[in-house]
Amino acid sequence: MAEFIPQESCADIHEPNSLTVSQAQQQIIDLIAPITTWEKCSLRDSLDRNLHLPIISTIQVPAHNNSAMDGYAIQGADISGTQFSLKKIGTAFAGHPYEGEVNSGECIRIMTGAMMPDGCDTVIMQEHVEIDNKTVTVHGLQIQGQHARLAGEDIQTGDVLLKEGHQVTPADLGLIASLGFSEVTVKRKIRVAFFSTGDELRSVGQILEAGQIYDSNRYTLYGMLKRLGIEPIDMGVVTDDKDALRSALQLASEQADVVITSGGVSVGDADYVKEMLEELGQVNFWKIAMKPGRPLAFGKINDALFFGLPGNPVSVMVTFYQFVTPALKLLAGNITRRYNTIQLNCVSPIRKRPGRFEFQRGVLFTNAVGQTEVKTTGEQGSGILRSMSTANCFILLDENCDGLEPNSTVTVQPFSGLI
Ligand code: AMP
Ligand code: MG
Repeated sequence: MAEFIPQESCADIHEPNSLTVSQAQQQIIDLIAPITTWEKCSLRDSLDRNLHLPIISTIQVPAHNNSAMDGYAIQGADISGTQFSLKKIGTAFAGHPYEGEVNSGECIRIMTGAMMPDGCDTVIMQEHVEIDNKTVTVHGLQIQGQHARLAGEDIQTGDVLLKEGHQVTPADLGLIASLGFSEVTVKRKIRVAFFSTGDELRSVGQILEAGQIYDSNRYTLYGMLKRLGIEPIDMGVVTDDKDALRSALQLASEQADVVITSGGVSVGDADYVKEMLEELGQVNFWKIAMKPGRPLAFGKINDALFFGLPGNPVSVMVTFYQFVTPALKLLAGNITRRYNTIQLNCVSPIRKRPGRFEFQRGVLFTNAVGQTEVKTTGEQGSGILRSMSTANCFILLDENCDGLEPNSTVTVQPFSGLI
């Protein structure tokens, strides 16, 4: 799997003023410096948080030589051909070591995880022995050192196990616990305020009148922010009114590190976001040679970063994943990059015109002979939010692509790395 790097190619042959996806991504990244404030939290609460201090081992793991099998611990030098006998002198359980020494010609019964006694370096699986009272007879080929785990074999004292900026996973919780740490030093959470703009929008629970629609962008934004481990500040719906927009943007920028809006960044007569931003901050309005999600505003209001996403629900999600997620991760001090791409056979025909980079919605599935293939979700309109629910990946089509026959190889970005 390769990291996703959109192709830097001829921008938009139809719209020379537009940026490529990667140019826009780079300009965003260039403006962001990671936060430096931190706090301590309990080990459990560190799940999904970004480490401020690396995790460095103060012990070795395993702490002592121990058995990897249920069987008999012996001195490896006692192995003699494929059949030999030893005298059993005791037993070691996990957590209950055998205290004495094991000499040549002797062995002890040992359970998985039990400490190897002094003198022993080898374990014989119990399936390879016959026992007669205290005499243990070993059968079959045995190799000195087998089935013994050595002290420090997993982790040495001083090993850097997780770097600063690493986002803690379930496996990491166990790894940190295995070192005995009950607290972790993490970056502070970043605050993101967001609202939707549009006179036509109503919130769930309200009754729709003619021409009105339910606001869905605030829900997708909430979900995408939560998945990034961010506490979102939901500021509701703001009408297409200059004063309302001005005060919402002011308030949001005072409360949050990042402000995200949807809608109103196009060139329609009620698209006032642009005017307000010119008044309040330094914001660029970009046409990006991509589909969906062409208009995007990015910049700063006071000290807060600002993203003005398009209004169409699919465009909101695509621009969030491709531009906002990497920016929020960088700001939050998160060095974990999970955008991987794979090349797969696409069974559907793909309709596309050259000029823009497209993020079509796709479904990964397993074919009749067990191979993974991809198909499109069908209609690709930027208002068809259902396509995002049905999809489990984006199909990436570069600017030059002008459609594909069924059974062409495509580049796929699975959602499992995004959300
Ligand atoms: P705009 O960019 O404001 O012109 O909006 C583009 C399209 O997206 C219009 O059809 C809007 O009604 C729709 N839209 C804008 N905001 C939302 C929202 N929060 N939820 C659902 N649809 C929206
Ligand atoms: Mg609007």
